[in-house]
Amino acid sequence: MKYNRILLKLSGEALMGENSYGIDSNRLEQYAQEIKKVKDLGVEVAIVIGGGNIFRGVQAEKTGIDRVQGDYMGMLATLINAMALQSALEQNGMFTRLMSGIKVESVCEPFIRRRAIRHLEKGRIVIFGAGIGNPYFTTDSTASLRAIEIEADVVLKGTRVDGVYTADPEKDKTATKYSVLSFQEAYERNLNIMDMTAFTLCQENHLPIVVFDMNKPGNLQKIVAGEEIGTLITSN
Ligand code: UDP
Repeated sequence: MKYNRILLKLSGEALMGENSYGIDSNRLEQYAQEIKKVKDLGVEVAIVIGGGNIFRGVQAEKTGIDRVQGDYMGMLATLINAMALQSALEQNGMFTRLMSGIKVESVCEPFIRRRAIRHLEKGRIVIFGAGIGNPYFTTDSTASLRAIEIEADVVLKGTRVDGVYTADPEKDKTATKYSVLSFQEAYERNLNIMDMTAFTLCQENHLPIVVFDMNKPGNLQKIVAGEEIGTLITSN
């Protein structure tokens, strides 16, 4: 395997599927099956899931809700998605642990780095819910930080597009896809891969990122096995 321990980042929005809000059960099931394929290869899997399908902190300000309060609401939204994903994974026969950045004792464990690593070593899928537990951060930053903490080999950012393009492919027909990019290049060309905090964390810690289409069956498995799918952002 090219990667033995991965951190998979899924956006909350992707969970909506064809809906405009909430969780699409078909999409959830599809993701569980994709994750099972890599688990069956013996890969250690950690997951961070966003909350954009339910609530985003920035949107709170428009409704008069305080930004920090909104961010906590967003973190709790990610926990709802994480619980749904945990359930789907377990229904597909996988062992899981949900660890939260905010203490929610009746529902899941708090994030403890050593314990997370132990779960992974025992073959459990670890889902990190509630972001890093602090406002003004995103789940992309959570993905970068947790990946570094658990010494993951890579951050796999599952999206709706199949990689990073020179321009927005939906607006510019001449846009082409990068197969490999350096952090420096991505930065200089202003390519929007993750927010700056998340991106910089990966760059400074030499943690590669792969941006890929999570909705295409088999993609995740192929990346782990070493196929060139999506765009790889790396320091070398
Ligand atoms: N959030 C936060 N701190 C974190 C992670 C998330 O405050 O460490 C809040 C933030 O308001 C964010 C929301 O949770 O907008 C949902 O996460 P995100 O927008 O990253 O989800 P995604 O876009 O991946 O669906």
